[in-house]
Formats: sequence, C-alpha cells, structure tokens
Amino acid sequence: MIIYKRKDEIERIRQSALLVSKTLGMIARELKPGVTGLYLDKLAEEYIRDHGGIPGFKGLYDFPNTLCISPNAQVVHGIPSDKPFEEGDIVSIDCGVYMNGFYGDHAYTFEVGEVDEEVKKLLRVTKEALYKGIDQMRKGKRLGDISHAIQTHAESHGYGVVKELVGHGLGRKMHEDPQVPNYGKPGRGKKLKDGLVLAIEPMINMGTERINQLADGWTILTADGKPSAHFEHDVALINGKPEILSTFYYIYDALGMESDEEDMFRNQPLVLENY
Ligand code: MG
Ligand code: MG
Repeated sequence: MIIYKRKDEIERIRQSALLVSKTLGMIARELKPGVTGLYLDKLAEEYIRDHGGIPGFKGLYDFPNTLCISPNAQVVHGIPSDKPFEEGDIVSIDCGVYMNGFYGDHAYTFEVGEVDEEVKKLLRVTKEALYKGIDQMRKGKRLGDISHAIQTHAESHGYGVVKELVGHGLGRKMHEDPQVPNYGKPGRGKKLKDGLVLAIEPMINMGTERINQLADGWTILTADGKPSAHFEHDVALINGKPEILSTFYYIYDALGMESDEEDMFRNQPLVLENY
C-alpha cells in the first residue's frame, strides 16, 4: 500500500535527505587514494549522530555499517572494508539517515583520482538516466513511465540495467511501496499523484545486466566484473511536479564542480549550509 505524504511529512523527509546530502559532501572531501571504506564509514556515522540523526542502514535487515560502499564491479550493498581505494577506482556510496520519524536515502558514484573516459561515461549516463526518470514523476504519468525512461536511456548506450534491485517509496520506513524498477513499459503501473515520495535509483552496468551476490550475503557485483554505477535521489510529487528533496550540490561544492542539473526539479533555489 502506498502511503502518500502531507507537506509537513515531506519537509521532514527533506531534512533527513539533506543530512545524507551533507554527509556525502563531507565524504567527497575525504575520499582519495589510500583511504579505506571503514574510515569513511566511521566518519559518516559520527557526522550523522553529531547532526541529530541516526544512521539509517546500520542494523536495518542486520546491515553492519552506516554506508554501503561498492567499488568498481560492486553494484550496491558493499560492506565497508579496510582495503584502500586506488587511483582510477569508482566508488558507489549509499547512505541513509533516520531523523524526526522519517528516512532519507541517497547515493552517488564517486571517482577516485583520474578515471578512464569509458568509465566516466558510464557515470554520466547513469546520472542522466536518473534525471530522465525524475522528469517523468508528474501528475497523470504512471510508474512505468519513470522505469521506462531510465531503461531506454541506459540501454541506448549499450549498458546493462540491473533488474533484481529497485527504487522504492520512502517515508517512516526506508523501503515502502511502491517498488520502482529501473526497467518497464510506458503507461503501465500505478498512476502518480501528489504526496508520493520515491527514492529513484538506477543501478547501471557497463557490461552485462547479470549480477551475483558474494558469500557475505550483502555485496552485489556484476557477473562479468565490469564496473557498475549507482545514483539515487529522493523525490516528492508536489503540485503535480517532481521536487528533489536530496541534493548532490554538497558533493559538487566539495569537489569544486559547477552544476545546475537539479534546479529544474526544485521550487526554490537550494541554499547550501556549512557541512
Ligand atoms: Mg540508497
Ligand atoms: Mg534506496
């Protein structure tokens, strides 16, 4: 059953989402060759608790850490390790926060130092697919329109769309209805209406869409060992239009990057706070 949110509930989800955004901004400053996932995980947990939140993933379904850290061929759900990141790695970092009764949950795939052009393209196209999906989250559209937009963009570049893992509704629970697959048919599925809050999260592989799971019971990786990217935003349907509740702008600020990619999905300009 889909739980539609009131405006005040959406504002609380926004606060949780923005604490994730700031955490990822802080992480962006720290992630470099030689640093380990376990170190980043410790920083993230301290940061979230210092800012009044609770790590949303830690203990959820018995996940052991604050961050899911999935380098290179790992798709999602990677467990932070003591293996240092290396120049040329890509690292998908997914983070959740629980605060004031609501969850925030979003993810970004980072580049460590200089990354191959081919891999950069995978990241760019996956992020584009995310925004193409978000752009479909409008009154009168259907869930399948979001899914289809993501799939067609990724597949037009020859990439594999992971089917087994999906986006989701977000609210008092981390994972609510509906499921938001990254593949589907246009005009199918539930009709979208105001108050819907979704975590939209394409997981796109450079090669085959097939995946395996490690014996740790968590880590998902590509079956062919090629890289995979993951970008996730939390989005609310307000006045018939999509509004992004999370932001990548803290990450861009930390990395000295310029972007206005989210502006068309926000009612008023976002003012960055200290982080
Ligand atoms: Mg996530
Ligand atoms: Mg999610």
